[in-house]
Amino acid sequence: ELSKYQELWQMLDEIDANTWVLEPANPTEARGSAMRRIALGNQVYLQAELSVQNPRAVCSCRLLGPEREVAPLRQKYNQNLHRWSPSKSTLTNLRAVLDTDFPSPETTEKEEFSVECGVCYAYRLASDGPAAAESFPDVVCENKRCGRSFHHSCLYEWLRTLPSSRVSFDTIFGECPYCQEAISLQGS
Ligand code: ZN
Ligand code: ZN
Repeated sequence: ELSKYQELWQMLDEIDANTWVLEPANPTEARGSAMRRIALGNQVYLQAELSVQNPRAVCSCRLLGPEREVAPLRQKYNQNLHRWSPSKSTLTNLRAVLDTDFPSPETTEKEEFSVECGVCYAYRLASDGPAAAESFPDVVCENKRCGRSFHHSCLYEWLRTLPSSRVSFDTIFGECPYCQEAISLQGS
């Protein structure tokens, strides 16, 4: 049983030691989770979910952050996915496929990457449970000079209280609380 997980832990340990993992909060104590949310840059994150059965296989990846930063990375990912080699570690493969390096704990501080929500001023929402995956401020103002990030639910509540916001189908349109640029949000 244990040896089955040995390889997964090896892959995760390498990621935990060489990148800034923002979720789970204490990765070395979170061996039950094969998910890692890794800082890629200023408000840009990679959410990688390793396969427990086959840790060296292509992992499921989600890029989070402002569209202008994420779009070129997504393009690289799609272009370079054939570079993924099961004989190499997951971290080596992620670097090759994204054609970039992750900010290293040797040269950067974690605080540079764990950005708080512009509404509630916390990184993590107080409520956990099934919404834990949404607990990270992953909505980012697209205005380059602003770039504040918000929890989806915090920004939604904020926009809902403003008379200037309007709702169309499942999208709410309003203004960023910081720069007053147009910002829109789907869902509730
Ligand atoms: Zn918030
Ligand atoms: Zn803004």
